[in-house]
Amino acid sequence: MQEKLLMTPGPTNVPERVLSKMAEAVLHHRTTEYGMLFAEMNERIKRIFQTTNPVLTFPAAGTGGLEASIVNMFSKGDKVLIASIGVFGDRFIKIAKIFGLEVDEIKIPWGEGVTVEDIKGKLTDEHKALIVTHNETSTASTNPIKEIGEFMKEKNQLLIVDGVSSIGGIEAKMDEWNIDVLITASQKALMSPPGLAFVGVSEKAFEAAKKSTIPKYYWDFLSAREYLDKPVPENPYTPAVSLINATNEALKMIEEEGLYNVYKRHEVLAKKFRDETEKMGLKVFTNEKFISPTVTGFLIEEEGKASKIKKRMEQEFNIVIAGGQGKLKGKMIRIGHMGCVDEEMIDRTLNALRKCL
Ligand SMILES: *Cc1c(COP(=O)(O)O)cnc(C)c1O
Repeated sequence: MQEKLLMTPGPTNVPERVLSKMAEAVLHHRTTEYGMLFAEMNERIKRIFQTTNPVLTFPAAGTGGLEASIVNMFSKGDKVLIASIGVFGDRFIKIAKIFGLEVDEIKIPWGEGVTVEDIKGKLTDEHKALIVTHNETSTASTNPIKEIGEFMKEKNQLLIVDGVSSIGGIEAKMDEWNIDVLITASQKALMSPPGLAFVGVSEKAFEAAKKSTIPKYYWDFLSAREYLDKPVPENPYTPAVSLINATNEALKMIEEEGLYNVYKRHEVLAKKFRDETEKMGLKVFTNEKFISPTVTGFLIEEEGKASKIKKRMEQEFNIVIAGGQGKLKGKMIRIGHMGCVDEEMIDRTLNALRKCL
């Protein structure tokens, strides 16, 4: 059987070059050797975020990055506006509520995206932040963060963006788009093993962190920054050294290909995937205005069919795909095409899908 493919929206395929870094000897995290590696990785991740702000690294799932953002930016009772277009927007709402924030919600029908028009009039002076997902993985929709960022430009509120399934696969310019907190994780478009959360933090956001009174210790952004700013950068606590080594290699590969070539590859392959699946009679779930270059979802109405397809794809073709989430559980299949993905992988997935249907 052919090598196993992870055509899921995370974790994604990890290139050999990156995997082999995981097998290297573990560096001690208080040595210059580690500090140099960490510094190198930091410069690279900042280029992917297109920012001059610090990007903090935590050993965590992406959700850890979301939670860290809430506990560092706010105090109990703070009011925020959260736009949700699916499961991950809803998750951010849940986390904010658990920490005692007052959440005003903009709920958009699934398969659509949130626009400036939807936000205008909803965002008031009482809100401390607007929180929005860049690429909603559960509905395969991408929000127009550039336009939302332009709208937020002269505003006092923070703009917090969940970029877990976009960063490295879809253009995002943290500085130019006025994003104050940008979160991602290693195991999606960054084609690294799971286990690292990255959080870009603007000066305005660090000022908010100084005022935040929600308790935190491990997640403290100010402490993470203090260690990052040392002449040889460090982390407050033992970092996931091997993952940092691996991700550094993945980021190097993105640089070798060229960030904008990587974005282009995602767009071209996503389009090919949609065109070919359309010919098979599959119906893309997402409104084409918000179509995602990193994940595609199809509504499969027939009872039990989605899970059958998923199972056959894995058992007969050694290709892992994802099902629906939340209210789309059992009614959808989702195929991730982010990070380490090439035309051959797309063709193999298309051929297998064709046979499964
Ligand atoms: C995957 C994902 C998350 C959660 O990441 P975990 O690493 O599973 O915690 C959050 N937001 C989005 C948009 C995602 O795609």
